[in-house]
Amino acid sequence: MSKNRKQEESTKAVHAGELREKAHHALIDPIVQTSNFTFPNSQAVRDFMAQRKAGENEGLAEYGRYGNPTCLAVEQRLAVLEETEDALLFSTGMAAITTSLLTFLEAGDHIILTNDCYRRTREFAGVMLKKFGIESTLVPLNDFEALEKAIRSTTKVLFSETPTNPYLRILDLPKWVAVAKRIGAITMVDATFATPINLRPARLGVDVVIHSATKYLGGHNDLLAGVITGTKAHVQAVRETLFTTGAILDPHSAFLLSRGLKTLAVRVWQQNESAMRVAKFLEGHPAVESVWYPGLESHPDHLIAKQLLGGYGGVVSFTVNGDFDETAAFIDRLTIPFITPSLGGVECLVTQPAMMSYSSYTQEERLAIDVKDNLVRYAVGIEGVEDLIADLKQALDGFGS
Ligand SMILES: *Cc1c(COP(=O)(O)O)cnc(C)c1O
Repeated sequence: MSKNRKQEESTKAVHAGELREKAHHALIDPIVQTSNFTFPNSQAVRDFMAQRKAGENEGLAEYGRYGNPTCLAVEQRLAVLEETEDALLFSTGMAAITTSLLTFLEAGDHIILTNDCYRRTREFAGVMLKKFGIESTLVPLNDFEALEKAIRSTTKVLFSETPTNPYLRILDLPKWVAVAKRIGAITMVDATFATPINLRPARLGVDVVIHSATKYLGGHNDLLAGVITGTKAHVQAVRETLFTTGAILDPHSAFLLSRGLKTLAVRVWQQNESAMRVAKFLEGHPAVESVWYPGLESHPDHLIAKQLLGGYGGVVSFTVNGDFDETAAFIDRLTIPFITPSLGGVECLVTQPAMMSYSSYTQEERLAIDVKDNLVRYAVGIEGVEDLIADLKQALDGFGS
């Protein structure tokens, strides 16, 4: 990726889709904190409804569940960043995923998901969609033989993440999209770990791109939000569902998201660089068993990553030479990252997935999905990388004593 191309992304993160003239000549988009939008008289209501019927006043609304200018401004910026026609915000990433799936699937349909999808996404498909007569099949990422075998005449949606959690597997998007096009299925990609700075799936033909904006897009660990981007037709179909299901983003969170987005590119470039340094350091430390980072040649999808990604992201997963408790003790020796799920913000965060996200699973169930006891997920923030490495080093050196 050329330097200019990169610079352009940061300009978009700051300015894309904004109006040059804003309310009160303010530089910043205002927080329009209101539940309703009013009309001066009944003729204005008639005109408004006629325009809506003609599809002419998109984004304008009489009531807050149908739209808000603060949210609209962020949606337009995200659509430009993802190089898609439209975008739609939600209260959380899960709201974006569930509302979209409820839009594109109906009783009798079938969906194929990659098996290392976000746990709640898998559970939504396997438990909730099933209740409504929608079948799902999980296939390993990049196992195209398994994907072909899973296809049914009723397969309507292919869903994947990339990079995945926690092993940062990278989907061979062109090949996967080609399969979907052949069978006429809608493609949905949760690209939370990539951000539009590292990957723009729509360029490769993906229909609907999803993000938990709670992570990199917000970037400051102070909000929850979700977004989908895609063609006008796809996004509009989901918008209609959202008007009914109601998990909209509130204007104040949209403002925080707007503010966070402005530094998206510079944060992600820094996090790409820091995570690469951290991954290389970990690979060379004797207390580390193995490291998963798509920027390392040892990663199973390194070649695909090199071809598709503008950067390898801010998350590094690794196993240490220790059991469940020794891994926990290692995490406790770290002094910079906080112990908590999530990722993508300016603060470095760390988790032991076996203890945190999969606490309700037995060890056997965890191993079946390859969540090892000694696995650590480390999400870099924007702290000084030398400080992060020194901190990791002292905590890892503790294994010898
Ligand atoms: C966090 C996350 C989600 C869920 O998003 P919320 O904002 O927490 O609802 C979905 N997918 C991925 C990949 C995530 O990391």
